[in-house]
Amino acid sequence: MPVVDVKDGSVVPERVAEGVERPRRMEDELREQNERFSAAVENMSHGLCMFDADERMIICNGNYLNIFRLDPKVIRPGIRFIDILRHSVDIGIASQSADELYAIRKPYIDQAKPSTYEEALADGRIIRISHRPLASGGWVSIYEDITEQRRAEQDLKEQHRRFDAALANMSQGLLMYDADGKMIVRNERFLELYNVTAADFPLGTTHRDALERLLELGIYTQIDVDSEVAKTEACRRAGKIHSAYRHLTDGRTILVTRRPMSGGWVATFDDVTERRLAEERMTHLAHHDTLTGLPNRSMFRERLDLALEDAAAAPLAIFSLDLDRFKAVNDSWGHPAGDWLLKCVAERLQRCLRSETDIVARFGGDEFVVMQFNFKGIADAEKLAKRIIEAVAKPFRDKSRDMHVGISLGIAVFPDDGRDADTLLKNADTALYRAKSEGRSLYRFFEPAMDAIVQARRALEVDLEAALPRQEFDLDFQPIMNIASGEIIGAEALMRWHSPARGTVGPDDFIPVAEETGLIVPLGEWALRKACAAAASWPPGLRIAVNVSAVQLKSGGFARDVISALAFSGVPAGRLELEITETVLMDESKAVLKTLRQLRDLGIRIALDDFGTGYSSLGYLRRFPVDKIKIDRSFIRDMGNRDTAAIVRTIIGLGAELGITVTAEGVETEAQLDMLRKNGCTEAQGYLIGVPSSAAEIQRLLKSRAARSQTG
Ligand code: C2E
Ligand code: CA
Ligand code: CA
Repeated sequence: MPVVDVKDGSVVPERVAEGVERPRRMEDELREQNERFSAAVENMSHGLCMFDADERMIICNGNYLNIFRLDPKVIRPGIRFIDILRHSVDIGIASQSADELYAIRKPYIDQAKPSTYEEALADGRIIRISHRPLASGGWVSIYEDITEQRRAEQDLKEQHRRFDAALANMSQGLLMYDADGKMIVRNERFLELYNVTAADFPLGTTHRDALERLLELGIYTQIDVDSEVAKTEACRRAGKIHSAYRHLTDGRTILVTRRPMSGGWVATFDDVTERRLAEERMTHLAHHDTLTGLPNRSMFRERLDLALEDAAAAPLAIFSLDLDRFKAVNDSWGHPAGDWLLKCVAERLQRCLRSETDIVARFGGDEFVVMQFNFKGIADAEKLAKRIIEAVAKPFRDKSRDMHVGISLGIAVFPDDGRDADTLLKNADTALYRAKSEGRSLYRFFEPAMDAIVQARRALEVDLEAALPRQEFDLDFQPIMNIASGEIIGAEALMRWHSPARGTVGPDDFIPVAEETGLIVPLGEWALRKACAAAASWPPGLRIAVNVSAVQLKSGGFARDVISALAFSGVPAGRLELEITETVLMDESKAVLKTLRQLRDLGIRIALDDFGTGYSSLGYLRRFPVDKIKIDRSFIRDMGNRDTAAIVRTIIGLGAELGITVTAEGVETEAQLDMLRKNGCTEAQGYLIGVPSSAAEIQRLLKSRAARSQTG
C-alpha cells in the first residue's frame, strides 16, 4: 500500500520501500494512516484514481468504477492507464477509441499543474476530469459526473435566453427593481421609448435616480419625484398595481404600470399616444355635433351641471336660440345648402361670444344654446342677444345665392330663473317660444308669467289633438256678394271648434296652434270634404271658398286631398276656390307652386287672402297668377282714412289691370259698400252682406236668393 499524505486536497505519495527500516510503532502508524486514507478515498463523492510515474494505477475508489461502469476484477492496482482506456472501449462506455482518449488526456497528464477537462461518455453523460500532478511523477485524477449540473445550467441558460428574447421583443418598456429599490433588469424597448441610452440608466439605478434623470434629460416635466417615489413604495407594500399616464415633452403619452413582485417591483411602459388620440377623438365625437363641430347637448349639459355646482358661477345666462325661416331655406335650396348655412350660423355665433368660457352648442336641427358666464347684469345678456340677432340677420351668400334667415332668442338667468339645468333650459325655451310668437329676430327674457302662458298653450294643444276624433269641429259659411249685381255668388267656409270645456273657440285662436302641431293637415282635409259636401246641395254655379294653410300645401298629398274631396262630393272643380295667404307664394319652394298650378289647371280658383297685411311685395303676383285678391278687412274698416282709401283704390286698380277679381272683406256698412262700388270693386263679404252661419242656414239663404233672382 502506498504512503500518502493528504494536504489541502492534494495527494502526495511516498515510496513504500523507504519505510522498511522504520520502527514497529511507526509502521503501525503508517498502516493506520493508510487505512484512514483508503476510507477517505472510498467515501469521496467523486471518483478518484491515482497513477504512478509509469502510468500504472496505484489506487481507485468505487465511485470511479461506478462512473465508468468498470469491472473491479479488471481494474486493479498496477493496471496501465492505456489498458483502463482499452477496457472502457471494450465495455462500450467510451465514446472514442482508446488511442484517441489517450491522446486527449496525455497533454493534461504531462502538465506540471492541475488541469481540468470534460469528456463525454458513449451514454451521453458528461464527466469532468481534474488532473493533479504528484510530486512522485504520477498523478491523481478526480472524476465527477456533471451531466445533471450541465443540464440544469443549460436549462437556466435557455431560460435566460428566452427571458432576454421576451424582454427584447416586448412592445412595452420594462424595468425591474429589487427589494432594495435597485434596477436589476432593463430592456431595450425602455431605452427606445424614452430615447435614452443604457449609460443614462445603468443597472443599479434607483427609482428616484431614474425619475430625476428623466427630468434632467427634459423628457418629463412637472413630476413630483418625492410623491412618485412615495406612491410607488406604498403600492409595493400594499401589493397593489399602480398605473399612471406620463406626458412626455415630445407630446407622447406613456402609460406606466407598476406591479409589486417578490419584494421588488416591475414597471412596464406603454406608448399609448395613438390610443389616447383615438380616445380623445371618440370623446370629441360623443361631445360634439358632427356638422358644425360645436359642443352637443350632452357636453353642454355636462358643462352646465358643472357650472351650477359652483356657486361662484352665478349669475350666468342660458340662451335658447332657434333660426327663423330655416325650414324655407332647406325646402327651397335643399339639404346641402341647409347644412352649409347651419355651419355658417355656428361660426357667426361663436364669433359673437366675447369670453373664452362662454359656450355655444347645437342641440339639433336649427336649435342652438349659449351659456354666458361673467355675466354682470341683464345689459350684458341683452348686448350678446343683439349681437347674435345682428350677426345672423346678415345674408348668407353661397354660390351667388343669398340666403336670409333670422334668429330668435329666449334667455333664462341663473339663479333667478332656475337653479338646475333642466329648469333653466326649459325656461329659456319658454322665453324663446314667446319671442317666436311675437315676431321674428327677437329676444325675450324669461318671466314667470310666461310659464303660465306656455302651460295654457300646451293644454290647448292637448285638447285640440283630441277634438278631431271627437268631432268637435264644425263649419260656418259666410256669403259673398257680387257688388254690381247684388247677387250672392257663393260662400266661404269658416271653421268653428265647439269645445265642451272651452265653449266655442274661434279659428284665430286654434288655427295657428294646429299649424304648429301639424294637426292642420288632417283638420284642413276634413274642412275641405265637409265644405264640398255642403256645397253639393247648393244651387248650381254657387262657389265654395275654403281656407288653406301653408302647412297643408307643403305637407305633400294636398292636391290628392282636394281632388278626392271634389270627387266625393260631386262638386265641379270650377266651383271650388282655395284661399291662400301671401306667405304661401313667398315660399321659394317650387313644390308648393307646382301643386297650386296643378290645381289651377284643373279649374280650381286660387284666391289671395288677407291681401295687404303681408309683405306688400307684389313680385310674387307675377310668379303665380291668382284668380282673386281679398282685401283684408283692416283696410275696409279704416277706409275713412284717406291714405287707406287710396291703398284700397290702388289694389282695386291693380286687380282690374291684371284681370283679377277683387273681394273686399269685413264690409259692415252701406258707406263702405258704396265706396267699394264706386271704385269698381268686384265682390264684397262682411256682416252687412251676411254673418257666418250654419250649413243649414246658408243653404236656406242661398236657395231663397236663387229662387228670388229667378222669379225677379
Ligand atoms: P279670414 O279668412 O279672413 O276669414 C274671415 C274672417 O273675418 C272670419 O273670422 C269672419 O268671421 C270675419 N268676418 C267676416 N265678416 C266680418 C265683418 O264684417 N267684420 C268683422 N270684424 N269680421 C268679419 P273667423 O271665422 O274668426 O276666421 C278667422 C280666420 O281663421 C280666417 O280669416 C281664416 O284665416 C282662418 N280660418 C277660418 N277657417 C279656416 C279653415 O278652415 N282653414 C284655415 N286654414 N283657416 C281658417
Ligand atoms: Ca279667408
Ligand atoms: Ca281674410
